[in-house]
Amino acid sequence: MVRMVQHKQTTFEIISVGNELLIGKVVNTNASWLAKRITEMGGFVRRITDVRDDLSEISSAVKEALRRGTEWIITSGGLGPTFDDMTLNGVAKAIKRSLKLNRQAYQMILEKYKEMFERGILKSLEITPERRKMAELPAGAVPLRNRVGTAPGVLIKFGRQRIACLPGVPAELMDIFENELSPIIRKSIKQVRVVEATVIARGVVESALAPAIKDVMSKYPSVYIKSHPKGRESGVSIIELHLTATTPSQEKVEEEVGRAVQELKEKIAALGGTAEQ
Ligand code: ATP
Repeated sequence: MVRMVQHKQTTFEIISVGNELLIGKVVNTNASWLAKRITEMGGFVRRITDVRDDLSEISSAVKEALRRGTEWIITSGGLGPTFDDMTLNGVAKAIKRSLKLNRQAYQMILEKYKEMFERGILKSLEITPERRKMAELPAGAVPLRNRVGTAPGVLIKFGRQRIACLPGVPAELMDIFENELSPIIRKSIKQVRVVEATVIARGVVESALAPAIKDVMSKYPSVYIKSHPKGRESGVSIIELHLTATTPSQEKVEEEVGRAVQELKEKIAALGGTAEQ
């Protein structure tokens, strides 16, 4: 039998920001939606945290997640124009970067307001400090286009870790996640599986088996075969062969180990022995 023994997944944490979550006014559907999507994509969500609209709460939650070595930290909420939207401030504090006006984000916001102005929804095109605030991102960040609302999402690289900030309005969060973030996440997700199998060879000595093992290993380079002599039973030598393989695609690796097992069995039979799994 071929067994999958280990699955090293890319780790994620979700940090939802908003007083309304902690007073029980809003149910955190953003976190459950994100967790479901990330899990479907092969990621491993290790923790979901809710924090208040408070600078030190946000920054310490982000710092802790970074310290745990989590590869992807996704925040939701607090990207809007008001004074209590302080997610980006909190993230900037956690990674010790300053907030800077991001030209690309500013352009995205300007386009949104122009569109609203032309449709008569907005009376003035003036970029107020509140509107400008949404374009002030931690240094080095990349804005993620928001097709539904105004505030862009934000993607920050921090060494080998990444922080993505999404708005709180569910339709906006979903839009940015599906259209902007998920292609990047998909590329970063490790699909590393370790598959193992054991074959017991009877009636063949280890030195006779060695060339057969070498043959199979050179034919299936992702498969490693280790032989463990288990002594003799009624004068018949018993050798346990342990096969392990690690490749990015589970299907391929299972198939490879399966074929390697089959070939080993045939070679053992050709050497006059018997094989079982
Ligand atoms: P905006 O750009 O619209 O100001 P924002 O990023 O500042 O968005 P918030 O002000 O935190 O978002 O939240 C806006 C609304 O989205 C909330 O009033 C609430 O109805 C909803 N919301 C926020 N967080 C969540 C959540 N975790 N799950 C579900 N709904 C949420």
